[in-house]
Amino acid sequence: MSCDYLSLAAPGVRTLQPYQPGKPESELRREFGLDHIVKLASNENPLGPSPRALVAVREALSDLARYPDGNGFELKAALSTKLGVSMAALTLGNGSNDVLELVARAFLTPEHEAVYSEHAFAVYPIVTQAVGAGARVAKANPPDHAMPYGHDPAAILASINDRTRVVFVANPNNPTGTWLKTAELLGLLEAIPEQVIVVVDEAYVEYVEAGMDCSSALNWLDRFPNLVVTRTFSKAYGLAGLRVGYAVSHPQIADLLNRVRQPFNVNSLALVAAAAALDDIDHLQRGQAVNRAGMAQLQAACRQWGLNWLPSAGNFLCVEMGRSGREIFMELLKRGVIVRPVDNYGLPRYLRISIGTEAENARLIEALHDVLHN
Ligand SMILES: *Cc1c(COP(=O)(O)O)cnc(C)c1O
Repeated sequence: MSCDYLSLAAPGVRTLQPYQPGKPESELRREFGLDHIVKLASNENPLGPSPRALVAVREALSDLARYPDGNGFELKAALSTKLGVSMAALTLGNGSNDVLELVARAFLTPEHEAVYSEHAFAVYPIVTQAVGAGARVAKANPPDHAMPYGHDPAAILASINDRTRVVFVANPNNPTGTWLKTAELLGLLEAIPEQVIVVVDEAYVEYVEAGMDCSSALNWLDRFPNLVVTRTFSKAYGLAGLRVGYAVSHPQIADLLNRVRQPFNVNSLALVAAAAALDDIDHLQRGQAVNRAGMAQLQAACRQWGLNWLPSAGNFLCVEMGRSGREIFMELLKRGVIVRPVDNYGLPRYLRISIGTEAENARLIEALHDVLHN
């Protein structure tokens, strides 16, 4: 090749590290010829989607030749009713990843910076760098903190300067599972200047338990016009494969996000599935109960092994292995269990384990016991 395309790429793209997804089951099957694989690597809902979502998808199949509703009217109407926000406050995305990218494209330039915490969700650096903007990484809480490796509001505030346009906060955070307490998040929102957009990523909000003192930022939308709350159907609603998420914000911000959005960014199956899934509260609650029980099951095993874990308000547990998490990840792969190493998040001695069904958790526990003790 006589031409160096790397040198032609946009400056931010040249040094961009692509997102590392959880290893797909099909890949492990190809590599190791294994059957009965258990995937606890991407925080998916082990129960799958609501049966109502599947019915809606089947019905929509007959219309696949048509473009989707580019404004997502039905889904927005359902969300508007459910959340008590105006339809003008909503932006739909091809997953909430898409919405995060819309925020970056609408507000970040090479003259501006984004702020996010150490050990925060990996998509924030990617969307920031892709548009050539600068990034400031705020120090996370120290390991001996009550919320180890969690976001430190004071460090986030100290990272904000005249160039800051966007702050990304994951609450609860992935991969740590940690969260900001109600007063911490509110204090942070109060202290951030109005001209800085604050994205509060609530991908796991449905798994937050009452006693955790972790409030949704949606409660404060009226107080903070710079607030963008993002949510997804990929986790508790079990629709990761269809890709649908959304943002709730001041209508003026929603208008800007919708300007940079692809005209048909959410496909027609995703639109109907998400609207149907929203209605199925029983299914959502079954998933929450499975998560609660699975979390206790995994924590009991860790306790027996003498392993510590980070506090988690999500559907996953970040466990301290006392040695290389990636080595244990590889050993688990050989035993047909996929989890997530988090060395790329600056946590080389941890493994992130998604909560599965009781049987899936039991398989993981058995395999991990084998790796740790044989
Ligand atoms: C999984 C996840 C998302 C959601 O991604 P989708 O694009 O909606 O599938 C967003 N933020 C965090 C922190 C996540 O862990």
